[in-house]
Amino acid sequence: MLDTMDYIVEHEHEQLVTCFDRHSGLRALIAVHNTTLGPSLGGTRLWHYENSEAAIFDVLRLSEGMTYKAAVAGLTLGGGKSVIMADGKEKDPQVRTARFQAFGRMVENLNGRYIAAEDVGTTTADILTARGETKHVAGLPTEVGGSGDPSPVTAYGVMQGLRALTEIILKTDQFKGVRVAIQGLGKVGISLAEQLVSAGATVIATDINTETCRRAAEEFGIKIVEPEFIYDVDCEIFAPCALGGVINDQTLPRLKCKIVAGSANNQLLDTRHGEALNEMGITYAVDYVINAGGLINVAHELSGYNKEKALAQAAQIYDTVKKMLALAASEKISEVRAARMMAQERLGAVAAR
Ligand code: NAD
Repeated sequence: MLDTMDYIVEHEHEQLVTCFDRHSGLRALIAVHNTTLGPSLGGTRLWHYENSEAAIFDVLRLSEGMTYKAAVAGLTLGGGKSVIMADGKEKDPQVRTARFQAFGRMVENLNGRYIAAEDVGTTTADILTARGETKHVAGLPTEVGGSGDPSPVTAYGVMQGLRALTEIILKTDQFKGVRVAIQGLGKVGISLAEQLVSAGATVIATDINTETCRRAAEEFGIKIVEPEFIYDVDCEIFAPCALGGVINDQTLPRLKCKIVAGSANNQLLDTRHGEALNEMGITYAVDYVINAGGLINVAHELSGYNKEKALAQAAQIYDTVKKMLALAASEKISEVRAARMMAQERLGAVAAR
C-alpha cells in the first residue's frame, strides 16, 4: 500500500491538496511538485479511480512529470497537476458545472501556485467554467482569446522528436519506409498519424473506439490492428498515444520496435522499465521530453498567445531529443537518466541563483 507521506518525501513534492465540496460532490486532488522555475502548471484529469489511493498516486506521479517537462522544455513553469474523481454524476451538465466552479475556487485558494489546464476527461469548456472563479487557468478556448486545444501542437512536437530519432537511430532523414505503430487515435494520435502519413511513413494503429479506427483507416489509408495486438507489430517506432503504464513487464518482451516515442504521459509503469528498454537496445524518447508541445503552447497563452512563436518553440523538441540522445551516449546511460539529468541541471542552476 502506498504511504502518501513517504512518497511525497521521497519525490520531494511541495504540496498535496485534498478538495471536497459538499454542495457539488466534488472530490479532487491538486499536487504541486516543484515551483523552483515558476508557478506550477498542469492539466486537470477527470477520471474514474478505483479508490482515493489510486487518485493520489496518479496526481503525484503526473505532477512530478510536469516539473521535468517544463524544465527540459526551458519554460519558467513548475510542475503541478490535479485530478477530479469521477463518479458518473458529472454526466449531468448542472453537476459538472457546479463541480468545475468548486474546483476553480480550490485553485483560487492556492493564490497562483497552481495553474489548471485541460487534460484527459476535461475540455476547454470545463476550464472556462473554472475561469469564472479563478484567473489561474490556461488553455482556454480560442473564442475567448485562449490558445485552444493544445493537441495539434503536442503532435507537432512529437513529430519533431521523431525526426531527430529517425536521423540518429534509423540513420535516415526520411519517413518513407519507416513503420510507426500508434496506440490511441485520440486528439494527439490522429494528428500524429496524419502528419506521419503525409511525410511518407507507414502507419499501423489501434484504438479501443472502433468508429475512430474506421474513420482513420478511411481518411488516411492506415492499417488498423486490434488494441491487444499493437505491442506485437513489427515496426521501427512504437508510439504510445493513449494512456500511461503501457511499457511494463508484460509488454516489454513483445515489442519489436527500435524506438518508443509517443505523446502519452507516464508511458513507463516504473522507471526500471526505461532501463529495460535500454538493455533491449530500444531507444526511449522519454515521454516528458517529446510530448512537451502542448505545455509549450499553453505556456505561450500566459504571455499573450502567438501561434507561430509557440510552434517555433515546440520545434525545438528536435534539438532537445538530439541533446538527450547525445548525453545518453556520452555518459553511457539510459535516455530516462539522461533526461532526468537535463531537468535536474536546469532546476539546480535556477535554485542556485
Ligand atoms: P484522447 O483522450 O483524445 O485520446 C486517447 C485515445 O486513446 C482515445 O481515442 C481512446 O479511445 C484511446 N485509448 C484508450 N485506451 C486505449 C487502449 N488501451 N488501446 C488503444 N487506444 C486506447 O487524449 P489525447 O489528448 O490524444 O492524449 C493522448 C495521450 O497523450 C494522453 O496520455 C495524454 O495525457 C497525453 N498528452 C496529451 C497532450 C495533449 O496536448 N492533448 C499533451 C501531452 C500529453
